[in-house]
Amino acid sequence: MKPDLFEAPDYYNLDDLLTEEHKMIRDAARAWVKRDVSPIIEEAAQEAKFPKSIIPGLASIGAFGPYIPEEYGGAGLDQISYGLIMQEIERGDSGVRSTASVQSSLVMYPIWKYGSEEHRKKFLPKLASGEFMGSFGLTEPDHGSNPSGMITSFKDAGDGEHIILNGAKLWISNSPFCDVAVVWAKNEEGRIHGVIVERGMEGFTTPETHNKWSLRASATGELIFQDVKIPKSNILPGKSGLGAPLGCLDSARFGIAWGAIGAAMDCYDTALRYAKERIQFGKPIAAFQLQQKKLAEMITEITKAQLLAWRLGVLREEGKATSAQISMAKRNNVDMAIKIAREARQILGGMGITGEYSIMRHMMNLESVITYEGTHDIHLLITGLDITGENAFK
Ligand SMILES: Cc1cc2nc3c(=O)[nH]c(=O)nc-3n(C[C@H](O)[C@H](O)[C@H](O)COP(=O)(O)OP(=O)(O)OC[C@H]3O[C@@H](n4cnc5c(N)ncnc54)[C@H](O)[C@@H]3O)c2cc1C
Repeated sequence: MKPDLFEAPDYYNLDDLLTEEHKMIRDAARAWVKRDVSPIIEEAAQEAKFPKSIIPGLASIGAFGPYIPEEYGGAGLDQISYGLIMQEIERGDSGVRSTASVQSSLVMYPIWKYGSEEHRKKFLPKLASGEFMGSFGLTEPDHGSNPSGMITSFKDAGDGEHIILNGAKLWISNSPFCDVAVVWAKNEEGRIHGVIVERGMEGFTTPETHNKWSLRASATGELIFQDVKIPKSNILPGKSGLGAPLGCLDSARFGIAWGAIGAAMDCYDTALRYAKERIQFGKPIAAFQLQQKKLAEMITEITKAQLLAWRLGVLREEGKATSAQISMAKRNNVDMAIKIAREARQILGGMGITGEYSIMRHMMNLESVITYEGTHDIHLLITGLDITGENAFK
């Protein structure tokens, strides 16, 4: 792979909207990605292996629980800092960002928000340091966009202390190596609860899903529960019902809205540099109107997405961002990124399909990002419901 020469586009001087602390956190994450991710990520993706060696580095830049309070081992940062960290990681690779998103928003967040003080103390510091890795089990083989239909369930073990969990979750990021899984399952009354399942519990297995063409540097798998006996105290007491996992998804989708900008910036920056250097018909291809149209539209869309993410960050920090606003940003920014990746790939001609450049990897990764955490279509329906009051899901 070519050396990482990334220079971040900032066409509207958006840095002026950031504090010195934001810039410091962003720049530290950027430098870490250049130093520790870019040199190894292409090979990891080609070999379809999550590079575990980067776990301590992810922890060191605050990627595990950026906004979780410091008393629990988190970085205690604000929402814009969280977004900027996700942006920088996904500039390197969406799979690496996925690992960080799951750990932070889908595992640490529910333990912090819905867990007991004992849960927080037991799990959060180890998740923040990367000593423990977590996964989040919501999707099932027959229930993806409609998780409320889930069949994974638990019943009372009858000994006063345990529950028995049965079912299966599919498409679970980090599952093959997770130490803990936050699993969403129905109780005997059909109400959804979060349950902390720990590796080593009998009947709990995590087979890996192979042959992915996307997010190859992120490990994906199943979570299978066959009569798993779990202490009742592992049930998250703070919130139940579908709103509980959806609250986690709000946080993760917010991070994705920022992360996708990183992937788009990397594609744009690569294509711009290539277009200036590549000579055809006696001049740089950047001099041809058709290539300029592509590049000019890319920077326009990136700038719009940056503004959307920044404003969403301010709203979220103020506690005012709605789930529908988060949906809009996730949908828009991932769609923007995937379109830019496709256009950027064309600017590189044949070179664009090789692992010498990051574009094709970003493009394939974004095919997952546009589907997980609510598909492109589902987020449109969320906006539709929000503005019309009419539910078009069913
Ligand atoms: C690499 C990867 C990692 C993932 N990681 C996780 C994870 O860590 N944890 C987890 O729980 N899940 C995870 N997921 C699962 C992901 O969230 C689901 O794939 C996603 O929610 C879509 O579900 P589905 O694949 O079953 O598609 P389906 O729900 O079957 O949807 C198929 C198509 O139908 C459309 N559709 C569905 N319902 C409607 C409707 N009402 N109206 C119009 N169109 C509709 C969808 O938009 C989509 O285009 C991951 C997925 C991938 C690919």
